[in-house]
Amino acid sequence: KKTFDKRVAIVTGGAQGIGLGLTHALLDQGYAVAMFDLNQDEMNAVIERAGADAERLMGLKVDVTSAAQIRDAVARVAHQWKTPDVLVNNAGATRDKRIVKMSEEDWDFVIDVNLKSQFLCAREVIPGMIEQGHGRIVNISSRAWLGGFGQANYSAAKGGVVSLTRTMAIELAKHGITANAIAPGAIDTPILAPLSAEQRGKIMGTIPVGRLGQPADIAHAMLMFASPEASYITGQTIYVCGGRSL
Ligand code: NAD
Repeated sequence: KKTFDKRVAIVTGGAQGIGLGLTHALLDQGYAVAMFDLNQDEMNAVIERAGADAERLMGLKVDVTSAAQIRDAVARVAHQWKTPDVLVNNAGATRDKRIVKMSEEDWDFVIDVNLKSQFLCAREVIPGMIEQGHGRIVNISSRAWLGGFGQANYSAAKGGVVSLTRTMAIELAKHGITANAIAPGAIDTPILAPLSAEQRGKIMGTIPVGRLGQPADIAHAMLMFASPEASYITGQTIYVCGGRSL
């Protein structure tokens, strides 16, 4: 069998928002990209719009909280292309409520989508990465890991991502695999849609750079961590938040 000659990346939640920005950035760098997302229609639309790049794009319907679905999808990528070089754990969701109003289901859902998913996806790609002797894992956390009103579930999940990333780095370093995290600030994507104009204005006032972030701002940091040259950077979390964490 002819060996696949492109670097391969998986982007979870790759069909919209930040994930779509990450998908495009990787495509622009010559990667073959498999999107793992719930939204098949959106993935189809992304592939349709990609023109000649479509042959380096795959859209697999995966719920990243399902170990079985992840297993099948990673096998599909390995079979059709090769073992991934890069895993970007980006899929996420919020269900903001004050602790006293938060249901157990709200808690479990947000922890599962934002945190457990990253463990499950990494567990599935790591054996192949170890076998090939290299790999890059980039986990999307959030500046909200510092804590935020109404975000007990989300901030705990995103703080968990920071800790998970550090442990991945420790366990995987000897195999040529790095793991790093990105903590975005407010990025202009559909996840911000529930915010009122007043809330958006308030957030803007807290961003020293004076604008919301764009998916391309996150992609820039992701590409750095994903590059083969970044072999001495591991276990780190970088804020990409226009100075809002300062
Ligand atoms: P988004 O809601 O616009 O997109 C999320 C994508 O993930 C969607 O395509 C959705 O279909 C997919 N997804 C959700 N649950 C899934 C599941 N169970 N299985 C598979 N796919 C699933 O969100 P976004 O703003 O692009 O955020 C992307 C990541 O960045 C998330 O982890 C989010 O927590 C994080 N983040 C976002 C911001 C921001 O301001 N937008 C800030 C900090 C961190």
